[in-house]
Order: sequence, then C-alpha cells, then structure tokens
Amino acid sequence: MSVFQPNVILKDVTRIDQAFLRANGLKGLILDVDNTLTLHNSQMLRADVQAWISAMKESDIRLIIVSNNYPERVAPFAKNLGLDFVAPGYKPLTIGFSKAQKALGLPVQEIGVVGDQIYTDIVGGNLKGMFTVLVCPMLEETGVTFKVRRTLETIHIRAYYRKRALLKPYQSKWEMKQK
Ligand SMILES: [Mg+2]
Repeated sequence: MSVFQPNVILKDVTRIDQAFLRANGLKGLILDVDNTLTLHNSQMLRADVQAWISAMKESDIRLIIVSNNYPERVAPFAKNLGLDFVAPGYKPLTIGFSKAQKALGLPVQEIGVVGDQIYTDIVGGNLKGMFTVLVCPMLEETGVTFKVRRTLETIHIRAYYRKRALLKPYQSKWEMKQK
C-alpha cells in the first residue's frame, strides 16, 4: 500500500467507536490536534469531541497527542484533556510517533494514527507501520501553502475511493465525507 493511502477515511474522530477499534485490533490512538480535534490554534473543544474523548478514556483505549505545533500551543490543550503529548512531533518523520508508542506501551499494529493531513499524519503513521485514519479537516485552510497541499491530497483521496469503488463522479474532497 502506498504511504500516501490512509487505511480509512472518516468524517471526524467521533466516528471511531468500539466496534471500529475492535475490528481493526486497535488498543491505542495517536491524535493530531489542529483541524483534527479542534480548529487551528484553538483551545476550544466541541462538545461531541469532548464526549468522544471521555468515552475512549473510560473504555481503556490509550490516547496520546502528537502535534507538529509548538509545546506552548499543545500543552494547555493536552492538559485540559488529561492527555500526554509529544510536540513538536516532526511528522511525517517517525520520531514523534516512536516516542508516543513508547508512552502508550503498545505494539505498532495496535496503534491507530488519526489526523487531517496526508503528508504529515498519514505518511508518518504508515512509515511507522501503524493503522492510519484520515479525518476531514474541521475547517478548510485559506493559506496558499495549505491550498496546494490540500489540492495534492485529493489525488490520494480520489485513489482511496476509487479502490473501494465508492467513487461517484468525483466532485470535491469534502463532499465525499462519510455519513
Ligand atoms: Mg492537523
């Protein structure tokens, strides 16, 4: 499988439930922050995301944050959730994921990586041999760099849906959000 291909694409983190985790043999999750759990540089948490994290913690699923953002941004957010974190994570390098794996104390095949970017979260997770889950970004970015990156990502996302024969006439990336 290409390193650019996530194992699964989901609309958001809350779509990950116990059945999904069991089916894929996952006991721990490495979570991205920006545009995965909250908006870029925001400390706010949506009620459904908060509820999802609480449910995961209660069910003994091990969680840890790996973010490419600065510790000053990530630390208060992680503290608020009561989660450990690695920041900066240097994704797509595997160095941050290796640290997180050590903290989780699980083999790579039992860890899922959840994030909104193919070129950081998904590539890094795949290189490390972890199960990768691409989620739709909470908000589409406006910067030029991001626009280029998001456009390139559609190539891989299109391939994902094509392989699974889920592709209707291709419209746009986020119109394919899973229900
Ligand atoms: Mg992100």
